[in-house]
Amino acid sequence: MAFTLPDLPYDFSALEPVIDTLTMQIHHGKHHGAYVTNLNNAIAGKPALESKTVQAIIGNLAGVPDDIRPVVRNNGGGHANHSMFWQIMAPKGKGGGGEPTGELAAAINSTFGSFANFQAKFNEAATKRFGSGWAWLVVKEGKLSIGSTANQDNPLMGEAICGLGGTPICGVDVWEHAYYLKYQNRRPEYLTAWWSVVNWAKVAEFFAAAK
Ligand code: MN
Repeated sequence: MAFTLPDLPYDFSALEPVIDTLTMQIHHGKHHGAYVTNLNNAIAGKPALESKTVQAIIGNLAGVPDDIRPVVRNNGGGHANHSMFWQIMAPKGKGGGGEPTGELAAAINSTFGSFANFQAKFNEAATKRFGSGWAWLVVKEGKLSIGSTANQDNPLMGEAICGLGGTPICGVDVWEHAYYLKYQNRRPEYLTAWWSVVNWAKVAEFFAAAK
């Protein structure tokens, strides 16, 4: 087994009331768990892939055999996306919420004008993504930008494949499985609440690594 489902860095109930416990249990155990299982099944017996990180695999989909490329794209993307998503959240007031500081705050302000403008632009990308997908804050050639991808695509796959390139440092899951039990069809309400569990210290770590 090349990949394993990472534990959450907090309890299933820790993000209440923003994200409810049952959603976290199903999302992590069933959805993310299935991506890991399906990815492992697809690459089983292919040591060239089994020895790589999931980021390296999805960053070079051309190097994946044709017959398993779609399943690796979907499930490798799903594993990478959710592994980041759990990390960039934290309980409200215990690492979650507030605003970024330091170099990340300076980069956001210089790129988007203000933190509020950045949030508005990010929310717009997340709201306008039709169907299932993700909105992202990425670093590309040292600069920040916002975009979105469909399904479980990840910016590491590259602009030619998924319409957005760069290294993701923050992303929000807008699949209905991420919010439907509590918010039903109200994606904008989920997005508004989500900011209060964003772990900016972790996003800043990804920013420092990506620059
Ligand atoms: Mn998800």
